[in-house]
Amino acid sequence: MSSATELIHSIPVDPLTGAISVPIYQTSTFVQDAPGVNKGYDYSRSNNPTRAVLEQLIAKLEKGSVGLAFSSGLAAIDVIIKLLKTGDEIVAVDDIYGGAFRLFNSVYEQFGIKVNYVDTSDIQKVFDAVTSKTKLIWLESPTNPTLKISDIAAIAKIAKANNSLLCVDNTFASPILQQPLSLGADIVVHSATKYLGGHSDLIAGLVVAKDPELGAKLKFYQNACGAILAPFDSWLTIRGIETLHLRIKQHCASALEIAKYLEQHPAVNKVYYPGLTTHPNHEVAKKQSTGFGGIISFTLHNDTEAAAIALVQETELFKLAESLGGIKSLISHPANMTHKSIPAAKRRANGVADSLIRLSIGLEEHEDLIADLALAFNRIENSTIKEKANAFTSV
Ligand SMILES: *Cc1c(COP(=O)(O)O)cnc(C)c1O
Repeated sequence: MSSATELIHSIPVDPLTGAISVPIYQTSTFVQDAPGVNKGYDYSRSNNPTRAVLEQLIAKLEKGSVGLAFSSGLAAIDVIIKLLKTGDEIVAVDDIYGGAFRLFNSVYEQFGIKVNYVDTSDIQKVFDAVTSKTKLIWLESPTNPTLKISDIAAIAKIAKANNSLLCVDNTFASPILQQPLSLGADIVVHSATKYLGGHSDLIAGLVVAKDPELGAKLKFYQNACGAILAPFDSWLTIRGIETLHLRIKQHCASALEIAKYLEQHPAVNKVYYPGLTTHPNHEVAKKQSTGFGGIISFTLHNDTEAAAIALVQETELFKLAESLGGIKSLISHPANMTHKSIPAAKRRANGVADSLIRLSIGLEEHEDLIADLALAFNRIENSTIKEKANAFTSV
């Protein structure tokens, strides 16, 4: 059976009524037959039938044993860090999602959990960074916004030899393109706010554990800490996943066309897209994933914030916004948006240049998106970038 067919039929028909859409069990509690005797559900923080469908679905898609749904991607990440204790250390990808960086450094550091950030696309650096205190290796692949790829299978071997857990934030790839548990990871986490939800209409997070015992521990923390996903948002996420296969296919196909267009544009300096043979990690990406995703970053020859700020305001189809993975294409300027809280020197050292622009390719026709970018480039050329920048800073 093809994976698209399997995905669609992994979403069960309601056994009680035959409803073909998963029912939304909007209830806090469940009536018991006798004290402690129930139909498998007693309180919706602990378990809810709508959420359970989503949790089983993501476990299946990621080829794990236990799936868990949370009220945000960060709530999902938070529960994973709760597996650690004071004195434990994390080795994490340097080009990490800003919210995860804030959680690690501004929340968990004060509890005595240290994080060592390294360029995980270089296996040797991971190997050199792990110590006997390293209990968790944290990857994102591809990363945000420079789309670095780490060799998940090779790092899984390092983790195993060191008795560390390996967790992969699979948000950018989605389980359609990459299944880290099959490559040796122990835990996968998603911001389902992005591709899984797919319509920019909810905030949600998902965790999948490979090992049932580890899954049970995480489920304990899910219930004990309480940041569960509500029934309606669980339903929205399921509804998003129903079309995930088709959407990802289109995101990937359009992104490759747009990356090629940008690569030959005279105003563009570097293009970051793992599907381009010029991408430094292209071979690893090809080995471990079945596609290269819908995110592209690029820098301008005029490597100034002013030039990038001017350009991102001139597109019409690409909407200026944070986030990614929805049906509408988005454009952003990380230095002034998602990565603003990172000191400029550190941000630049991580490859986030002043002129770096990130695109989330939506489901519009790629010809229209290319025309939109061409229009924006032309407008910038026809006006003086300085004027635009001044107009922006005086707002
Ligand atoms: C958005 C994002 C998160 C955080 O998810 P929220 O749903 O916003 O809490 C974590 N990791 C990555 C890679 C993300 O893009």
